[in-house]
Amino acid sequence: MEKIKMTTPLVEMDGDEMTRIIWQMIKDDLLSPFVELYCEYYDLGLPERDKTADQVTYDAAIAIKKYGVGVKCATITPNQQRMGEYNLHEMWKSPNGTIRAVLDGTVFRAPILVDNIKPVVRNWTKPITIARHAYGDIYKGTEYRVPEKGRAELVFTAEDGRETFRETIYDFECPGVLQGQYNKDSSIRSFANACFQYALDTKQDLWFATKDTISKKYDHTFKDLFAEIFEESYRAKFEAAGIEYFYTLIDDAVARVVRSEGGFIWACKNYDGDVMSDMVSTAFGSLAMMTSVLVSPDGCYEYEAAHGTVTRHYYKHLKGEETSTNAMATIFAWSGALRRRGELDGNTALAAFADKLEQASLQTINEGTMTKDLAGLWEGSTPKVVNTGDFIKEIRTRLEKLL
Ligand code: NAP
Ligand code: MG
Repeated sequence: MEKIKMTTPLVEMDGDEMTRIIWQMIKDDLLSPFVELYCEYYDLGLPERDKTADQVTYDAAIAIKKYGVGVKCATITPNQQRMGEYNLHEMWKSPNGTIRAVLDGTVFRAPILVDNIKPVVRNWTKPITIARHAYGDIYKGTEYRVPEKGRAELVFTAEDGRETFRETIYDFECPGVLQGQYNKDSSIRSFANACFQYALDTKQDLWFATKDTISKKYDHTFKDLFAEIFEESYRAKFEAAGIEYFYTLIDDAVARVVRSEGGFIWACKNYDGDVMSDMVSTAFGSLAMMTSVLVSPDGCYEYEAAHGTVTRHYYKHLKGEETSTNAMATIFAWSGALRRRGELDGNTALAAFADKLEQASLQTINEGTMTKDLAGLWEGSTPKVVNTGDFIKEIRTRLEKLL
């Protein structure tokens, strides 16, 4: 078979630990034999980030902006312990945070479903994609532990010094707590655009919910901006695509989500997304089966697995012990990126390859061959548990038959 050619580079971001090992296996066994990979390579492994004073992360983000599609391996976000382990010059920031900031992007997380692992919520037969607005609110809040009696006020001073707003929050008659939070129209708009765009690209309904009945200015602004952007730029496109935008209150949304069959995107404010993404991913099964894609408001896509570098398995691997690490989410990051690249370039062979790669991966598990993490969740026939490398080889065998 002749290898599939690529016309535009894909931004490839390598990473750390066990996922770096898997990354190479995927390229060697599942991609390079079939596709003439045309990638612009950035090594986001911690040693290289340290060596370049994190410049490599910024360069990678700029490259995604330039080419429109990237695929990223999981990376270590350094903490105190990593400072010593890697002898770092600085405690570099989370690469994901840096890339998200450069792209002004929104993260969409969706589970990969397989036949014999049933979500805890039995009626969820299709994936639920969560989009979290990862900016502002309590995550950028200012807090004060009120120690004594006194008045708390909300004050706004315009740039020219005029005080345009002052309101009592509470006259404290005893100690208490106080918090100020904010968000920006520009960030809410970017979030809304990314959500509407992703709904169109994936042909799924979009749900959004806040507590606008209680928060008549703050949450209501989110509701209003979403509605405005939908009417202005997306209503006609949604109708043409046969999908819906649905707004409701957050408590109503939670009830409806649990009763639904899935198959939609749930856009969440920052805190709701933090909590609900953990709830939804746990209910669907395994972190190793959760995909993640960062979408910028101008349509750049960065694909990755939602899980980390699987450190515990890496240390076993270093000691020469056998590991059974699940490569599914990392494979789907590659297939997602290759499909997107194919669609953008009109490269149908590349997009079709991405579909086949996913099909072969799903088929492997559905036929009962899987890594240890899934075996415990598997219902029905006794699964065949394989090690990290053999799982990828099992996929390869099936992929060859499909191509
Ligand atoms: P993790 O790498 O996601 O792993 C946590 C545990 O989940 C593992 O020990 C393993 O459980 C299970 N697991 C996760 N992915 C798996 C897979 N593919 N196959 C099988 N089991 C899997 O989270 P962490 O240990 O908290 O973090 C490790 C490093 O990753 C940290 O340095 C962190 O900064 C980084 N991180 C990066 C990203 C990212 O780049 N997007 C995201 C999160 C964390 P068992 O040990 O029980 O088998
Ligand atoms: Mg959380």
